[in-house]
Amino acid sequence: MGVTKTDYMRGMQCPRMLWLDRHKPEERVIPPEVQKKLDEGNAFGDLAMGMFGAYVETTAYKENGRLDITQMVKKTQECLRDGTQVICEAAFSYYGNYCAADILRKAEGGYELYEVKNSGGVSEQFIKDVGFQRYILTRCGVRLKKCCIVLHGAEEEKPFVIEDVTAQARAFSQTVNDNIWRLGKIKFQKEEVLQEPGPQCKEPYECWYYDYCHRLKQ
Ligand code: SF4
Repeated sequence: MGVTKTDYMRGMQCPRMLWLDRHKPEERVIPPEVQKKLDEGNAFGDLAMGMFGAYVETTAYKENGRLDITQMVKKTQECLRDGTQVICEAAFSYYGNYCAADILRKAEGGYELYEVKNSGGVSEQFIKDVGFQRYILTRCGVRLKKCCIVLHGAEEEKPFVIEDVTAQARAFSQTVNDNIWRLGKIKFQKEEVLQEPGPQCKEPYECWYYDYCHRLKQ
């Protein structure tokens, strides 16, 4: 596989992080509070799948427990052909570069994309996340009419708050082609990327290889 959405986001924070994810994942240390947030985010994402009513989820696994991307992309294409109203984990691959949209909803003349975030507000990182998806989906021929982020609102009975970020996502998606092929080369190169630790180790997210890189620096 080429560059996934996660690869892109992490590689743009630091190319070494992307390389380590691929070649030395055993050096990763995920703090328990971060893992808890990730798990809560997944649970909120599962809950949001039904926010527009009936849906088809494409998630498929191989015998080894890993995601079966080929099957997911195939099932997504079947759903698009069948006119499925709501597709969850709608998977797309463009020259091996990959993403899965949390929710893809059929609309007049195209589709609406919804990215679910267990958060109370829109951040710049969320826009980039949706912008990357927009790049992949439009390159795969999907006519996106709208791009939105689904936030976690204050009312637990009605927790889904929709923010339209179409214009910002479009603007960011126009920058993806400038970086995606470069990051693809970095991901698969044999030699470790020797990026010096710096501000990128903490911003926008604290890096899970912080101990590894700072240990080597000493
Ligand atoms: S600790 Fe810093 S230099 Fe090392 S991979 Fe993470 S962000 Fe990059």
